[in-house]
Amino acid sequence: MTLTLPMPATKRIALVAHDHCKPTLLAWAQRHRERLSAHRLHATGTTGHLLQRHLELPVQCLLSGPMGGDQQLGARIAEGAMDLLIFFWDPLNAQPHDPDIKALLRIAAVWNIPVACNEATADFLLDSPLIDSRYQRRVPDLDAYMGDRTGS
Ligand code: PGA
Repeated sequence: MTLTLPMPATKRIALVAHDHCKPTLLAWAQRHRERLSAHRLHATGTTGHLLQRHLELPVQCLLSGPMGGDQQLGARIAEGAMDLLIFFWDPLNAQPHDPDIKALLRIAAVWNIPVACNEATADFLLDSPLIDSRYQRRVPDLDAYMGDRTGS
């Protein structure tokens, strides 16, 4: 049986950018400011504060990524409280919290959340007609998963 979760028309968008990628994310967000203003923005600490100042839009700021912010976003995705992930991770520099980055990308894949890891994909996501409409997102069937594991 396929299980789905409704994504609201107003999306809960998670935004994260590693330090070298923050200017790219800020410029991207500025270009899409009007569209982003119709949604709810959440971000890791530093990214969120910069976005808030740059866009003059409310952003729910979590902990800074290396201090646990990536994990907080991952938990919200697993709980069905996040609809989209814009994650400009740095492909050219090592990060101290590499395991958290992998975990965030992994959990977004498990829960079938749209993910953009670069500007071009983020453009495609924001320009999709689905961004402003409801969408039935396929999600794992937790009851079936637990039933298989526990034999009940
Ligand atoms: P930051 O965290 O927004 O606090 O810089 C991002 C990250 O490195 O994951």
